[in-house]
Amino acid sequence: MTFVTRFAPSPTGHLHLGHAFSALTAFDAAQAAGGRFLLRIEDIDQDRSRPAFEAAILEDLAWLGITWETPVRRQSQHMAEYEGALQSLMERQLIYRCFRTRKEVAEAIASAPHGATDEAFRGEALPPGEEAEKLAAGEAFAWRLSLKKARAALGPAYFALVFEDETGLVRAEPERHGDVVLARKDFCASYHLASVCDDALQGVTHVVRGEDLREAAHLHVLLQRLLNLPQPTYRHHRLILGADGKRLAKRDQAATLKALRESGKTAADVRAMIGLS
Ligand code: GLU
Repeated sequence: MTFVTRFAPSPTGHLHLGHAFSALTAFDAAQAAGGRFLLRIEDIDQDRSRPAFEAAILEDLAWLGITWETPVRRQSQHMAEYEGALQSLMERQLIYRCFRTRKEVAEAIASAPHGATDEAFRGEALPPGEEAEKLAAGEAFAWRLSLKKARAALGPAYFALVFEDETGLVRAEPERHGDVVLARKDFCASYHLASVCDDALQGVTHVVRGEDLREAAHLHVLLQRLLNLPQPTYRHHRLILGADGKRLAKRDQAATLKALRESGKTAADVRAMIGLS
């Protein structure tokens, strides 16, 4: 099986050293395995995505010595595919419309027993009459995955869900996420839905990404099972921290690859700075 991995940045800011580490780790892994490296632009959030950032991403990656296959996949051009996946979940009643506002969701979590975590909202579809009223009134809603229904649909297989990462075989615990939002009213897919669809559509065998996304794997393997998609192997890598010991964010201008390049640093300097040979 050919090793296929990808780097999937969102064009909502300039890439920084953390992105360089992620992209180079994935690229090096593909090279070492004689495999393929793909680039995917995760521009589903059209309010925050900018063509100028996408152009800058391509420039930064090329400067790092990274090459990728073309055409580059842009999520904004594939909404129909995510909609199809959502439709299939909807037909099996695995998702439901949630009309609660953010504040109402937070309140529901706070009043839930057992000290649920931030994400662990659980809900259910409204009675048909009530839902029809809200739809007629044009109220906003989100499509949430029903963990209860997913568990019922999979039966014992739900509890046998596992994934492989650099630590070995991990038992998936999708309940850590609660009933996660998979799309908004206008079918705008969430990161989770688009990401699992794309990894499958692009034939990704190895998802190489930061350990900040380790939790996401617990949900992604459930979505893969529900959508009948192949499950990739995961490799989570360490995060690059700033001088303050916190992980780098897009607002840390000094660490952007653009700033480093303009200050005369080379790709080899960047590799050295993040501990890659
Ligand atoms: N677009 C995501 C990010 O920039 C990538 C997540 C992933 O690799 O799955 O964090």
